[in-house]
Amino acid sequence: MNIDTPLNALHDDDAFIGRHIGPDASAIQLMLENLGYSDLDALVKATVPESIALNKPLALDPPRSEQQALASLKELADQIDLRRSYIGLGYHDTITPPVIVRNVLENPGWYTAYTPYQPEISQGRLETLIAYQQMVLDLTGMELANASMLDEATAAAEAMALAKRVSKNKASQQFFLDEACLPQTRDVVETRAERFGFDIIVGPAAEAGQHDVFGALLQYPDRYGRITDLSNIATELHDKKAIVCVAADLMSLTLLTPPGEMEADVVVGNTQRFGVPMGLGGPHAAYFATRDAFKRAVPGRIIGVSVDSRGKQSYRMSLQTREQHIRREKANSNICTAQVLLANIAAMYAMYHGPVGLQKIALRIHRLTRILAAGLHSNNLNINETFFDTLTLQVTAEQRTEILHRADAARINLRTTETDAIGISLDETTTVDDIATLLAVITGDTVTPDNIKQLDSGLYPQFGIPATLQRQSPFMQHAVFNRYHNETDMLRYLKRLENRDLSLAHAMIPLGSCTMKLNATAEMMPITWPAFSKPHPFVPADQVSGYRSMIEGLEHMLAEICGFDAVSMQPNSGAQGEYAGLLAIRRYLDAQGQKERTVCLIPSSAHGTNPASAQMLGMKVVVVACDEKGNIDLEDLKAKSAQYSDTLAALMITYPSTHGVFEETVKEVCQIIHDHGGQVYLDGANLNAQVGLARPGDIGADVSHVNLHKTFCIPHGGGGPGMGPIGIKKHLQPYVANHSVVALDGPEKDSGAVSAAPWGSASILPISWMYITMMGASGLLKASQVAILSANYIASRLEGHYPVLYTGKNGRVAHECIIDLRPLKATTGITDEDVAKRLMDYGFHAPTMSFPVPGTLMIEPTESEPLQELDRFIAAMIGIRQEIARIESGELDAENNMLKQAPHTLADIMDESWDRPYSKAEAAYPVDSLREDKFWPSVNRIDNVYGDRNLFCACPSIDDYR
Ligand SMILES: *Cc1c(COP(=O)(O)O)cnc(C)c1O
Repeated sequence: MNIDTPLNALHDDDAFIGRHIGPDASAIQLMLENLGYSDLDALVKATVPESIALNKPLALDPPRSEQQALASLKELADQIDLRRSYIGLGYHDTITPPVIVRNVLENPGWYTAYTPYQPEISQGRLETLIAYQQMVLDLTGMELANASMLDEATAAAEAMALAKRVSKNKASQQFFLDEACLPQTRDVVETRAERFGFDIIVGPAAEAGQHDVFGALLQYPDRYGRITDLSNIATELHDKKAIVCVAADLMSLTLLTPPGEMEADVVVGNTQRFGVPMGLGGPHAAYFATRDAFKRAVPGRIIGVSVDSRGKQSYRMSLQTREQHIRREKANSNICTAQVLLANIAAMYAMYHGPVGLQKIALRIHRLTRILAAGLHSNNLNINETFFDTLTLQVTAEQRTEILHRADAARINLRTTETDAIGISLDETTTVDDIATLLAVITGDTVTPDNIKQLDSGLYPQFGIPATLQRQSPFMQHAVFNRYHNETDMLRYLKRLENRDLSLAHAMIPLGSCTMKLNATAEMMPITWPAFSKPHPFVPADQVSGYRSMIEGLEHMLAEICGFDAVSMQPNSGAQGEYAGLLAIRRYLDAQGQKERTVCLIPSSAHGTNPASAQMLGMKVVVVACDEKGNIDLEDLKAKSAQYSDTLAALMITYPSTHGVFEETVKEVCQIIHDHGGQVYLDGANLNAQVGLARPGDIGADVSHVNLHKTFCIPHGGGGPGMGPIGIKKHLQPYVANHSVVALDGPEKDSGAVSAAPWGSASILPISWMYITMMGASGLLKASQVAILSANYIASRLEGHYPVLYTGKNGRVAHECIIDLRPLKATTGITDEDVAKRLMDYGFHAPTMSFPVPGTLMIEPTESEPLQELDRFIAAMIGIRQEIARIESGELDAENNMLKQAPHTLADIMDESWDRPYSKAEAAYPVDSLREDKFWPSVNRIDNVYGDRNLFCACPSIDDYR
């Protein structure tokens, strides 16, 4: 470049590619030289099997700059007509406290962390999650809660599954569903029940106890707003040995007798209205609370209290941490990614307001609802007598039309899911003026502030919350909910918590199979735009046409990238995608008259969610062996396909394999399955190795999920949110999930839902939209190439120090590599866990431990990590190997050494009685650069066994608090 460089050469529309991809041109050259290749194409040729290579550019728009992409997205956002929604049905407008928006929701220190598998460097979010559990069990009146579920509807389905596991009414296959449940909950529960082989009985809640059922689900308050005492129903159900599940609104429970005090066994619901925007349906955290007696049957993750090696109280994920990997098809559920970031936000909202503040919000909502009720009543309109925040108005067809006409003119949305009624739900943001507007809209009269005043002073005492159902018990008395009510305290508390957690803002997180890549700021910015964060999921389609265009645009891009005919956006995690995909296969096979096809072949190396998902479809899991190279054993596959030829439903494979290898035979594998009449499900978690290079649809998959929170830049949020849309071939399209409230184009009308919201967690889709738009085909291709380059570079640099397990042709790995620590364990006793903990002393998060092979570490660097960071990680791994060598040689004690004692904390270094056979400097500063920048783990190694033996899942008491 010089002063005469022409203008067109000074524009940089594809500058984002270089911002996303870590290594620059010269770093890429260095890495290629190290591996002995002249260019990226040559490396890819040597790595990706010829038979699957795409060999043509993806048909996507050219790359765009951050500003251009944001401007295009803004155009779509401008086609979103934001109106005031009183629709309710489990979704309510809310105010996210600004201190939480800026310091958590928009803060990479919080949103780029992973699920807290390494608790010593995750104490901040674990402390918040345990507060979340405490909040849930206090409000529901239960003994134990998890953190967290994907949405209320799937939480209800999981409650049904738990009921089946623990009910003493073993003979019954029937489950009762309150007819006044939320419509989307009913939809999801019915879909799930059908595949489990349960019969659903729908009826009035009062009749629940008359049936021979293993469990029942009741809604409290119900979808029409009514509140009923559930005690008698619960007693009747218990007499029949049935499990009582209640879906409850958390805000209302600050004023209502909690279900736990009415003998409920399981309580589920959404925490959305605790500060999490509606976002056209998600993401939000759902909660799940139950009795202590059922703790081993709980789905999802429970955070518990344990102690570290210095006896300090510390938090960790307990019990089912890796339950799918251990229990496979016997796992309680397939939930892996949950909604951690949103659970944290809900807990913080509760901390910030405290019990008094929450009650005040709830009382205000309720008072306004009573004023509205009084206004309607005085106009002789027929409404429900009991309510917290929701009124259902019985209307004639004529009244309905008039009211909806006026509502439209006033730019407000009411609930219209009933043909003979109109529903109104108030929320935290509702004002007195809103009540005047609502009254005017409904009655057609003008309403003045004076009218409201009059109504407020003359409320009908018999309306609202029945005296017997007013909450008497205190809640959220723990210090954590009573200390941070001013912004200064809150800000500092949030910062303190953030500082305990290692995120991508500190260092690379080389978790294999998790794809911890850059979550670019420009990608994240749109998620807090009101246009995307505010809409209620059930607003009329024309109000969100820009939203729908964005979603459709992303569907097209993903379909092109994966080689499919269509994409279903409903599943809100990878595991949900598996369930949704297998469900489509199931429905398709049933429609072909092949109900008898129930066998699902799954290689032994598969991710644990695969068998757990197959089980949810009532499929019989048959394991296919892997050979000594980690590839699917083709002979075994042929034998099993032949053996089950008449009953084969599907094969679930991961590609590249979970061993990080491009298997040469994958097309043949798919062909074998198709020849035997089965369908191929391809687990797309490893798509990051393929984008632009090969496509699941071309390889032979019929359906495949795409983890947008891996390959397409949605941040992991410390354990969620995620999105797991599925790509499908044409023949499956009629059979993917539809939605009972918002009908979708494509799937059959009666195709039941898999998520509460029609497009899953819609409000995070702009992240992936931005990523693909800014990268274009060329950027995406390069990202895959560099991901493969980085993994091979690490494998090659570490090879001389640790054995690298499994490689493909030419000794190359795909986008991740597995290093084997079992030989070192045999000679020194040092385990993969010791290395993982020692990496913390070097400032790193460990790679994936013991998946897919016990005793190994799986490293996935992604394309986003710069060469210096790869080298820093490699130096740490080599440094650790040298430490192990000192144990091998006998120089260091086998037990008292820096690996077994890792991680080291400031408490260790400050300990006056330090008497270890290695120095403090060796402990804390194994490499010099740490003297400049050091991430200190906030606790020492946490005792896993103690935590599981002494399961304690609530906030520990703080003695000094009174
Ligand atoms: C991450 C992953 C999943 C599960 O995805 P979630 O979004 O966590 O449910 C499934 N299979 C593989 C191979 C994965 O790596």
